[in-house]
Amino acid sequence: MARRKIVAGNWKMNMTPTQAVELVNTLKPLVKTNDVDVIFCVPAIDIIPAMEAAKGSNINIGAENMYFEDSGAYTGEISPLMLVDAGVKYVIIGHSERREYFGETDEIVNKKVLKAFEHNLTPIVCCGESLTQREQGVTFDLIRQQIKIAFQNVSAEQAQTAVIAYEPIWAIGTGKVATTSQAQEVCAAIRVLISEIYDQTTALAVRIQYGGSVTADTAADLFSQPDIDGGLVGGASLKPDFGKIVNH
Ligand code: PEP
Repeated sequence: MARRKIVAGNWKMNMTPTQAVELVNTLKPLVKTNDVDVIFCVPAIDIIPAMEAAKGSNINIGAENMYFEDSGAYTGEISPLMLVDAGVKYVIIGHSERREYFGETDEIVNKKVLKAFEHNLTPIVCCGESLTQREQGVTFDLIRQQIKIAFQNVSAEQAQTAVIAYEPIWAIGTGKVATTSQAQEVCAAIRVLISEIYDQTTALAVRIQYGGSVTADTAADLFSQPDIDGGLVGGASLKPDFGKIVNH
């Protein structure tokens, strides 16, 4: 069965609630399609107004992060129960910015992935190497470690519904896109790894995105690769160009 393409925007720490509504209204007609799952992952405070603005459209409003407990004394964190109650279905887990600035380890990523599945949220699990790691020749070892730990105790049935985003850190927000063959090579390796951890059925079902400075000019070529099922898009998801990326 062919995998359905999935293109997600990551707004990062941009857009006030008022601006969020304006952006959803601007993009709504531009991202219209029946062929691609379209997700806008937005700051927590924007989720409810963006959800209201997206009503009746094909846009899914997702989250950029969540905590791995349901409730309690975790000041400032967002619970999966809050996301579910707001109507969220997708949540980015382990983005490189969370790993770099907020100390998220592979073990924390795994706890969050398990928690997301417990609440029927689809995690968009991020992995990716730094420029130094690529130059040291450890890209594949690193990705294997990140994915193996992220998926500890995740069942094959759950893994089949997951989204994995391969995002080389050196390509995020830098304007430096991985070449199509670099992106395909790592996404293919991730699929092989999933077949090793689980089985071929799971490997063929899991959706793998590329992320890192994707633009309207590069999307079509990247997303046509056999193991790339769409993209996770930062900067360009805040612009009308996102429509062209979705409809690549
Ligand atoms: C991201 O935030 O996941 C991302 C890929 O950002 P950008 O597209 O701006 O590189």
